[in-house]
Amino acid sequence: NAFTNPPLDPVLLENIGYARYTTPTPVQKYSIPIVAAGRDLMACAQTGSGKTGGFLFPILSASFSNGPRAPPVEPQGQIHEEARKFCYRSWVRPAVVYGGADINQQLRQIERGCDLLSATPGRLVDLIERGRISLANIRYLVLDEADRMLDMGFEPQIRRIVQGEDMPGVQDRQTLMFSATFPRDIQMLARDFMKDYVFLSV
Ligand code: AMP
Repeated sequence: NAFTNPPLDPVLLENIGYARYTTPTPVQKYSIPIVAAGRDLMACAQTGSGKTGGFLFPILSASFSNGPRAPPVEPQGQIHEEARKFCYRSWVRPAVVYGGADINQQLRQIERGCDLLSATPGRLVDLIERGRISLANIRYLVLDEADRMLDMGFEPQIRRIVQGEDMPGVQDRQTLMFSATFPRDIQMLARDFMKDYVFLSV
């Protein structure tokens, strides 16, 4: 299955075992090999489909095996909890930043060192504008629940982050987008943010 063929990193496989995941969900079955092959990905999948593992597992597997370059960025607080669970006994240090909570505490967390950052768009823009975070070394960029972020009016912040001057160019990062739906505004983001992407609908 997609956890074992081609095999995920052994430390990650153990952590997946602790979580009692025995078989990949359909979105994981298809997304893991696509991401592991280095392709950009536009995946249409609902919350509850296991999409978090769909991007987290191939990113963590490559990261555990290849060692540091720098932090991936993705939105959503609950991803951080998954990331913590699956980063156990690895070198990857996950952190999370989101609005409505004390920014100084979040800054201290990032400044202790962070290899995988889960962020909401507004708070991330705030940190970039304060000059407290650099995205220049990002290897993976994940936009999760893209349709919800647009519904909430975050398109300017998303464009500010992804098309900002310190973000590596589309050729120098791997970009993954997840969305429950694929309306015209999401198609435009996919066109603007990704290169030759694979489209997956589950
Ligand atoms: P998500 O769609 O990523 O929010 O995941 C929905 C739920 O499915 C979460 O509670 C996960 O812990 C669980 N889950 C994800 N992948 C698997 C799997 N391969 N086997 C069993 N449970 C899973």
